[in-house]
Amino acid sequence: MTSSIYAAPTSQLKGLNNLFIELTEKNCNQRCRHCYIDFPLSKKVKDFISIDTIKKALNDTVNENLQCIYLTGGEPMTHPDFNSILRLCLKRSSVCICTNGSFINEKKARFLKRVEEESNFEIIFKLSIDHYNEVKSDDIRGRGTYRQVLHAVKSLIKYEFNPILCITNYYKEDKNVILEEFLKVCNKIGFEAGPQNFVINEYFDKNRPEEIESSDWDGLDCEYGRILTAKGIYTCPFLSNDHRGRCGSDFTDYSKKASLESPLCATCIKNKTPFFGINFSAFSQQ
Ligand code: SF4
Repeated sequence: MTSSIYAAPTSQLKGLNNLFIELTEKNCNQRCRHCYIDFPLSKKVKDFISIDTIKKALNDTVNENLQCIYLTGGEPMTHPDFNSILRLCLKRSSVCICTNGSFINEKKARFLKRVEEESNFEIIFKLSIDHYNEVKSDDIRGRGTYRQVLHAVKSLIKYEFNPILCITNYYKEDKNVILEEFLKVCNKIGFEAGPQNFVINEYFDKNRPEEIESSDWDGLDCEYGRILTAKGIYTCPFLSNDHRGRCGSDFTDYSKKASLESPLCATCIKNKTPFFGINFSAFSQQ
C-alpha cells in the first residue's frame, strides 16, 4: 500500500474468491451514459469469449477458494452460449449474472430457476438501474430501460430469486435518500427488499478523473478477485483489457500485485465498498 512520487500505490491479492468472467467486451444492447467501456460505433462486433478458455480457467483455479463466479460484459446474456457457460460455472460455485435485465422475462426466469435446481449452487442477479425516478434513470440508460428492469425484478422474484439492484450514483445524491426511495419502488412491485439488495456506487466521470486521496482501503475488488477476458487476466472489471490492469495470459502464472495507477482506482477507493464483488455477509445476517 505504499506510495511515493515515483510509483503508484499497489494492492495485493489476498485470495481468489471472486472470479469475474467477461463474456463479451463490446456487445451490449444499451449505451448508458456513465459506462466506462468505450463502445465501437458499429454494433456488429463479435468478441465473445470461448467456452474452452473458460474451461481452462476453471481447471487452472481448481485449488482456489472461489466464492462466486461473476458473468460480466458488455451484456453477458448476449453471448450465444450463455446457457452452457452458466451451467458449466454452476458446477464450480455460485454464479452472479451482472446484467441490464433486458433479456429477463417470466419465461427466462422460470428457465433459470430450473437451471439453478440442477445445481448445488445459487444463481444471483445484479441488475443495473440508475435512479428511482423513471425519467432520470431512462435519461442515463435509454428510454424504456427502467420499466424493463422492474419487469425483470418482478419475473425473478416470482421464481424466488433475490436480485441485487446496482445503482451508479450519477447525480451524486445522498445515498440514504437513494436507498429509501428505491425501497419504496420495490415495495410497490411486491419485492420485499432490504438494504442488502442495493449496491450504490460512485460515478466515475471519464471527463473529470480524480487522484487517489487515501491509502486506507480494505476489500477492493483487486484484493479478492481477478477477471478473465478473451485477452487474458486483468485485475478487475474496471481494468479489463486495459494494459494498466494486465496480470498475465492465464491462471497458471499471473500477477497477484496490482498497480493502482488508473484514475478508475481513485473512484474505486473513494467508493469504500467493492464495486463488483458481493458482500455475502450482509445476506447471511438477514
Ligand atoms: S479499479 Fe479498483 S479494483 Fe480495479 S485495480 Fe483499481 S483499485 Fe483495484
